[in-house]
Amino acid sequence: MRSTMMDAPLQVARILDHGSTVHATAEVVTWAGGGEPRRMSYAEVGRTAARLAHALRDECGVTGDERVATFMWNNTEHLVAYFAVPSMGAVLHTLNIRLFPDQLVYVADHAEDRVVLVDSTLVPLLARVIDRMGAVRHVVVVGGGDPAPLVAAAGDRIAVHHWDALLAGRPEVYDWPATDERDAAALCYTSGTTGEPKGVAYSHRSIYLHSLQVCMPEGFGLGVADRELVIVPMFHAMAWGLPYAAFLSGASLVMPDRFLQAAPIAEMIAAERPTTAAAVPTIWTDLLAHLDAHDVDTSSLREVVVGGSACPPALMHAFADRHGIEIVHAWGMTEMSPLGSVARPPAGATGEAAWRYRYTQGRIPAGVAARIVGPLGEPLPADGASVGELEVRGPWVTARYVGDDAPDGEKFRDGWLRTGDVGTLSPDGYVTLTDRAKDVIKSGGEWISSVELENALMAHPAVREACVVGVPDGRWGERPLATVVVREGAEVTAEELRDFLATSVARWQLPERWAFVEAVPKTSVGKFDKKVVRSRHADGALSVTELTTP
Ligand code: ADP
Repeated sequence: MRSTMMDAPLQVARILDHGSTVHATAEVVTWAGGGEPRRMSYAEVGRTAARLAHALRDECGVTGDERVATFMWNNTEHLVAYFAVPSMGAVLHTLNIRLFPDQLVYVADHAEDRVVLVDSTLVPLLARVIDRMGAVRHVVVVGGGDPAPLVAAAGDRIAVHHWDALLAGRPEVYDWPATDERDAAALCYTSGTTGEPKGVAYSHRSIYLHSLQVCMPEGFGLGVADRELVIVPMFHAMAWGLPYAAFLSGASLVMPDRFLQAAPIAEMIAAERPTTAAAVPTIWTDLLAHLDAHDVDTSSLREVVVGGSACPPALMHAFADRHGIEIVHAWGMTEMSPLGSVARPPAGATGEAAWRYRYTQGRIPAGVAARIVGPLGEPLPADGASVGELEVRGPWVTARYVGDDAPDGEKFRDGWLRTGDVGTLSPDGYVTLTDRAKDVIKSGGEWISSVELENALMAHPAVREACVVGVPDGRWGERPLATVVVREGAEVTAEELRDFLATSVARWQLPERWAFVEAVPKTSVGKFDKKVVRSRHADGALSVTELTTP
């Protein structure tokens, strides 16, 4: 029996219509450094999105599913593009402003970007590569500032427009076309830490369903009373779906633009009073040091979401104990839109038991099916003990990469996405990751979790950051190397840290090799860059202390 239900497509345009009418008075606030923050109501975002769509169609000739890229910070105009481009049937491509020039050219060509919207503060960066982006015909510069370097670099092939002039006088409504909900709405490339970046094309349907999950209480629990501080870049897995979820739920948005250091983030929190925020652990580590040293009013924060890499339990406790802020740990991937799991304890869990759930990567929602598999792809029990690679599937998980006719066998198996993450799955759906498969340290036939060592080290009061990688060892194949950033004003030796680790980690896992560093190198989205740490070690660029076995 077929259902009697209407077949209304799940569309980004519907999310825009809803947010800009029902939640017309919600606002997006963009931080302006020392100046007055810029404010725009969701009603105005709706009108501006219509004007942008008209401009893109009439002046830039955007038709069908052509790609419109953004090269932007988190701000109002980026939000407008998030809605205008997919709603008009085109495909939004969020370029990662921190990619190397060759990678930027690669992804822009691969995606066949026709238009690029760029913040004027990023003009010098884009000017370095624009002439090599073969499909680009139009660039739109947002904000004041000198577009001359871009005009000079663009040549005759590319027209350079200014946002204000381009949008001026355009109609404030647009008859959004009926798109097939399975068509691409947005495009995001993995950051390509291994090999070339790979493209994931989100559909209108996947965005809609994913946004609902972001709003669910067991997701990020976004509601009409919330003000979300979106620190995670809008080019990092669509800012974890928060912009769309905000328009669905009516939550307001606070955008940091280019002011991503701890001091301005703290100012934003005090001034704009967000109820929640989202970022990778390194941002929170920096903010913690700032909050410890300054008196900042963070009382508006109900909770903050930390994901993208494993959140050290010590960070969660420090925020809770010293600042009364609850950190919620979450796991995801660009390939998963990105929400995979959120670590909220089950009903009835309190005290230590609740904390143990909060340390995990979280509980999978109905929209994500997960399993653990062994080395040959054989499914292992979800018993919270069997360790293997995590595989997932579901309506907001990609089934292949852009441009591939068939799923790449290294990343997909029998309709499942191979996450490359190793860990366990409990019977009640909690994922606990021990490591990325490529970061696990293989020592004499045994596995050492680099994340476990990092978490244990970061619990030491003198340690600000610790990044552990496997390095070649004549006897064991591989052994851990611990690189440590010491907290300002603190002092600690490698022996002391090793002895501290010995209280919580098996003796055979203790690193012999230690290096004290100014900073851990970070990837384009702010995660520890273990590839760079390994290559610095291989090049002899680290000053390593080797301890003998105690
Ligand atoms: P990139 O691969 O460029 O870092 P993604 O953000 O898509 O970009 O990375 C997804 C990966 O990040 C996951 O497969 C996992 O290895 C890691 N990750 C994300 N969240 C967590 C988390 N909470 N704990 C541990 N690892 C995480």
